[in-house]
Amino acid sequence: MPEYKGVCHCGATEWTVEIPEEKHILCHCGACKLMGGGEFTLNQIIPKSNFHLTKGDLKVYSYKGDSGNSVDCFMCPKCASSPYHHQHVMGENTIVIRTGLLKGSDKWGKPAAEIYDKDRASWLPQTGEASFPEVPPS
Ligand SMILES: [Zn+2]
Ligand SMILES: [Zn+2]
Repeated sequence: MPEYKGVCHCGATEWTVEIPEEKHILCHCGACKLMGGGEFTLNQIIPKSNFHLTKGDLKVYSYKGDSGNSVDCFMCPKCASSPYHHQHVMGENTIVIRTGLLKGSDKWGKPAAEIYDKDRASWLPQTGEASFPEVPPS
């Protein structure tokens, strides 16, 4: 399985991740926009054991997601770059990695899917191979 490395903006934290599928999932939800300061975030769902913090410590910010379950966002305590978040609704062993922070992930090409596409900016074309108004049916 290919391994990728991530480094936060200030360099205080570093991590490596084994990525099962080298594809981004775009998220247009309101929380991603507010925390990322952009129109969408780039993500992939992976087993928690695939993530390895190799330098520094992460702080946690938690909020209640749409499901009513808590979402824990892990971030550098100095610069707030966020390598991953944990949506408890998805179970304890699954995390959502921010693929945009992984070196080399800019070469992955077209995203596999867009979620919360109902909140996509009107000026932004749909780019994912699949699109879901909110989350895919499970
Ligand atoms: Zn940092
Ligand atoms: Zn989102």
